[in-house]
Amino acid sequence: MQTINVTDVIRKNSTFISMINRDSCQDVKKCYQCGKCSAGCPLAPFMDVLPNQVIRKVQLGMRNEVLNCESIWLCAYCSTCSVRCPRNIELAEVMDSLRILAQRENIRPKGRAKKVSIFNKGFLRSLKKYGRLHEFTTMLGFNIKSGKPFNNAETGLFMLTNGKLKLSVSSPRGMDEINRIFEKTEELEEKRP
Ligand code: SF4
Ligand code: SF4
Repeated sequence: MQTINVTDVIRKNSTFISMINRDSCQDVKKCYQCGKCSAGCPLAPFMDVLPNQVIRKVQLGMRNEVLNCESIWLCAYCSTCSVRCPRNIELAEVMDSLRILAQRENIRPKGRAKKVSIFNKGFLRSLKKYGRLHEFTTMLGFNIKSGKPFNNAETGLFMLTNGKLKLSVSSPRGMDEINRIFEKTEELEEKRP
């Protein structure tokens, strides 16, 4: 049986580990795998890789495994894990950095993660275009992109007829600032090493 030298594996994947440490402003090697983050995470029952396992995979530089798991998309950034962590690791920041990297590398999320990714993109599109969340177009776009155009159609219609959903949308004051935030973010993204 082939034996694996963990030190060699970590050395080989050090670029990935440093990148996640830098982007998340955390030091993943501080984690000693107590599992308190996973025990308190409200989304853990739905995750394919538990939060402490995500950290472990990052520690070992298991780039493909971690960037392709659903958990990085399911994390709700609630920070319950960070509050419980005896090593003060902000796991939500690590999850966020992994999600951004997966998106940058055009890794297609699978399963439940796919829906989260579709919603995230729709939400940002609406924010960029209208300066706020336009529920009607966001949910319609979500339904179409997730392959279920008539999902919750009855509820949508009920809300529309009762004035709870609006077809029209007016941009808020401060739209210039919102545009500048998007421009600056895109500019920084282009300059990334
Ligand atoms: S709670 Fe902190 S130290 Fe414990 S496994 Fe989670 S990240 Fe690691
Ligand atoms: S921030 Fe993410 S990983 Fe941490 S407890 Fe919340 S959902 Fe779980």
